[in-house]
Amino acid sequence: MYDRILTADQRDRAVGVLLGTAAGDALGAGYEFGPPRPDDYPIAMIGGGIGPFAPGEWTDDTSMAIAIAEVAATGADLLDDAELDRIVRRWHGWSRSAKDVGIQTRSVLSASAHAGIGAASARQAAAEHHDRAGRSGGNGSLMRTAPVALAYLSDEVGLVEAARVVGELTHFDPEAGDACVLWCLAIRHGVLTGEIDARIGLGRIDSDRRELWSERLDVAERSRPADFTKNGWVVHALQGAWSAIATTLDAGGNHLKSGLESAVRGGHDTDTVAAIAGGLLGAAYGVSAVPVEWMEILHGWPGMDAAGLADLADRIVSSRAS
Ligand SMILES: [Mg+2]
Repeated sequence: MYDRILTADQRDRAVGVLLGTAAGDALGAGYEFGPPRPDDYPIAMIGGGIGPFAPGEWTDDTSMAIAIAEVAATGADLLDDAELDRIVRRWHGWSRSAKDVGIQTRSVLSASAHAGIGAASARQAAAEHHDRAGRSGGNGSLMRTAPVALAYLSDEVGLVEAARVVGELTHFDPEAGDACVLWCLAIRHGVLTGEIDARIGLGRIDSDRRELWSERLDVAERSRPADFTKNGWVVHALQGAWSAIATTLDAGGNHLKSGLESAVRGGHDTDTVAAIAGGLLGAAYGVSAVPVEWMEILHGWPGMDAAGLADLADRIVSSRAS
């Protein structure tokens, strides 16, 4: 199916993963924490939101994903602690001037700073956060997981491990780990085949949680994104994103755009749900499905535009094509 050298279509889809993520994020930014909207409510890259953000500007979801992507673009193995240290350091640097940092992520990053900025202290802080709060299933690891899939297109087993390990730098909860594994495997499958299948990774989830996740996907398919009102929780965020994708299949060639608009109309954590949906839609349809008017204004930390993001995605897959 894939021998490290991607076809032109697969390469377009690999680039689509990051551009789809950023497009969903920037589209949802202006509606964050707003209410659900009706089906005919116009959605555009209006900017604003809690940043406030400029029209076309992405938020923390894409910024944190870029930090992972930058390290992956060096050809690094993300299972190596030295590389995870680099990711955590980059997140720290970003968070110092970021317009928005998720509550759980900020708490973990600042706690880890006291013990020396790196993967070990971040994991420790994430576990302590989980113990203290009794849960740590925010959507903050799922929202940034897409580039991990690009780093393991030729290694499904490695991807299962890396999705969980990168997630656990800030989110200890197994629910968050499961969600990252499921979504990354769906993204990988999308890039390689052009197909959308959120169930492709169910066999890689622990057997005692597999049925639960399967039911959650079923529920998403017969619901609307707005039904997942607690979408700051990783489970509802994934269900909202999957619902947005699964209920807009009739949009045909406009599926990427329609799916992202639907995700935003779900309300609440709009940018994150749309960023999650965008990673998978971009994987299946490629960067060529991202509307030109969005591509033209997409930008954000660290002073990057759509072309920069495309180059980053390209370097992740190129660095492994040998
Ligand atoms: Mg955000």
